[in-house]
Order: sequence, then structure tokens, then C-alpha cells
Amino acid sequence: MKTVIANWKSNPNSLREAARLAKSIEKHASLNRKAEVVIAPPFIYLSDVKKEVSTAKLGAQDVFGNEGGAYTGAINLAQLKNTGVKYVIIGHSERRRYFGETDEFINKKVTAALAYGFKVVLCVGNKEKMSDPSNFVNKQLTADLKGVSSKDKIRNLIVAYEPIWAIGTGNADNPQSAAEVSLRIKEHINKLMGVGKIKVLYGGSVTDKNIRSFISRNKIDGVLVGGASLNPSMFGRIIKAANELG
Ligand code: PEP
Repeated sequence: MKTVIANWKSNPNSLREAARLAKSIEKHASLNRKAEVVIAPPFIYLSDVKKEVSTAKLGAQDVFGNEGGAYTGAINLAQLKNTGVKYVIIGHSERRRYFGETDEFINKKVTAALAYGFKVVLCVGNKEKMSDPSNFVNKQLTADLKGVSSKDKIRNLIVAYEPIWAIGTGNADNPQSAAEVSLRIKEHINKLMGVGKIKVLYGGSVTDKNIRSFISRNKIDGVLVGGASLNPSMFGRIIKAANELG
């Protein structure tokens, strides 16, 4: 089964628009049940998006901490769980870049979210184009997964390979090289913790036009979609492709 995750980032600007988008995604998810569809809206819309979905799953774009406490502005794992969130994106390059998140900080969040039973979508990726990004990406993974072992509900880990230069640029990676990096990631995780069945998604300027070239490769288990997930008809076609190639 291929996974398709909609990362709305800091969009849209109104609840009305969020509900409309969620309704459309739910319609496509329910018509294409061979694809696993996740919507990650801004925190402020989570409860309302939940009302619109039954087939599509709810995801969060980030998290901080396990329980409540003196952390102004933070949303914790207990709150997400009690809101019906099943997936948490951690370590997105925009969190690393604009919010100064380090591998050490990301590692704490990944460890806590796995322990809490969430499906964790851990994002990694190289800033500039590289002929072989595997070493860079695997170093990031080693740091982000420090101390995590096969005992830590590791089957709930999903890795999103997102070359930063490809995010939001309209310049997607070459599907063949994305598939090679995905394979290297799986091998690395296997070496780190003896688990070979990790899902690896590709993210970076995925559209309805290029999705098939990525997910037709069996090393790529789905896609993380930013910009195109805000376009209801385009995202519908992305879900349909994932269903057909699932
Ligand atoms: C993302 O936000 O993770 C992403 C891949 O964005 P886009 O699809 O817009 O490149």
C-alpha cells in the first residue's frame, strides 16, 4: 500500500477553506482505498479536519514534549493523541531551517513520539544537489534515531527523503536517484536496528504529472506532498495514482 501525506504547512488562512480541502481529500481517499492517505493541517485546524475525515488519517506537522507543562506555544503528544492524530511529521527541513531544530532535538521528539505509539514521519534530506546523497542522509538518520532500537515500535517509523533543493521549487528529484537513496536508507536502518521493512517516502515538488515515476519504483513507498496538496483536483489525481500503483 502506498502512502500519500498532505503537508499543508502554514495554509490555508481560513477554517472554511481547510474544511473544504479536507472534504475533497476525504472524498478521494474513500474512492481509492488502496492508498493510505494522511492530512497534516496546521494544529489550529486539526479538530475541524477530523470532523471531515473517516478514511483519511490525521497527521500533525510537528510536536513538542510528552505531556503538559510550562512550554508556551507548544503542542504535546498527549494533546495530539486526544485529538485523534495518528501520524506526526518530525524534522521537516522547514522546522530545521526556520526554527533552528537540531538532530539532537529531533531525536528526542522521535523517541518520545514512537514511545507514545504515533506513526512518525521523519524527514531527512540534503540541502544542495549531490551525486550521491546517501552518506549525508544516513548520517542525519543515525543522529535522529540515536538510542532508538528495534524494540521501540520501530515499525511505526516512516522516513521521508526530501532533498531540500527540490522542495517547493517545481524541480523534483530524478526518480531513479530518489529510488536509490530510498534503498540506501532501508539498508542503513536495517544495519542500525535490524529492521528492513521501513517505509520510505519521497518528497519534493511532487505533482499529478510526476507521481507515477516515483511510486512505480518499489523502493519508494509513497510521497509527502506540500504545494500540490492544496490543490483539490491535483491532489485527487495523486491519490488515484497511489491507489492504482499500490
Ligand atoms: C514538503 O513540504 O515536504 C514538500 C515536499 O513540499 P512541496 O511538495 O511543495 O515540494
